[in-house]
Amino acid sequence: MKIREYRSYFIQELTPIFDEGEAESFFYLILEEKQQLKRIDLALQPDLELNENEIVIWNSFLEQLKQEIPVQYLLGKTSFYGLDFEVNSNVLIPRPETEELVEWIIQNSKISVEDKKIKILDIGTGSGCIAISLAKNIKNSKVFAIDISHKALATAKKNAENNKVEITFLQENILVTTDLNQNFDIIVSNPPYVRNLEKQEVKKNVLDNEPHLALFVEDNDALIFYKKITELAKKNLTPSGELFFEINQYLGPEMIEMLEKMNFHNIELRKDIYGNDRMTRGTR
Ligand code: GLN
Repeated sequence: MKIREYRSYFIQELTPIFDEGEAESFFYLILEEKQQLKRIDLALQPDLELNENEIVIWNSFLEQLKQEIPVQYLLGKTSFYGLDFEVNSNVLIPRPETEELVEWIIQNSKISVEDKKIKILDIGTGSGCIAISLAKNIKNSKVFAIDISHKALATAKKNAENNKVEITFLQENILVTTDLNQNFDIIVSNPPYVRNLEKQEVKKNVLDNEPHLALFVEDNDALIFYKKITELAKKNLTPSGELFFEINQYLGPEMIEMLEKMNFHNIELRKDIYGNDRMTRGTR
């Protein structure tokens, strides 16, 4: 079968579930990753053939996509802030909103004194996407990253290696940590923040495949991680150190109130590209 014929079949099979653009983007992602062919190659050689083995592989991707398994897990990789990351079901797939948080921290760090060593801590690092992209892009940074999950940390360590950055990883349950035993210039976290009451808004592909440990919190204590991390930040940030969070879009005002109560200064709430309250900053 010619690849372009298979392409039509593939897109047609997926369009009841996904829109055409999305189905097409899956096709080209798999083409690039699994066949080392780009869109342009297909345009230049419209008669390229798929052999039987290749069709078996393509069909297996197709079946899994139909079950709404995220394409990033199927390929085992994704890109975040221009870097490649391995991903698997032990870690959340990095989101574009989180790239915006990283961008904010990087821009913000440029304002601070040149050549000063900047000590950064990422809490709940998952794939390591925040820690690694900060380490790559902030000069003189020394980055630490914590996660409760050994499996997530194994993935994050691999990602740090692949991206050639040195990060100190620590396995810890932040909810029981009372002191981080050292001070940081920046603490950042994208902790679990989706309330159970919001579960019906969560798409099937996320709900069925991504780690619930990284996503959900109890309705009656939705800020549990934020409160704990803010307390630790009060203790373990340097005097003008900064605390950055990715947040639940419905809890912007509650977050501001909590940071104010904890006597943080220069508090700022920002929206993401979709116009939702998505991140905060506060200075100790
Ligand atoms: N933004 C993620 C989602 O939409 C949630 C991330 C988190 O809970 N930290 O599923």
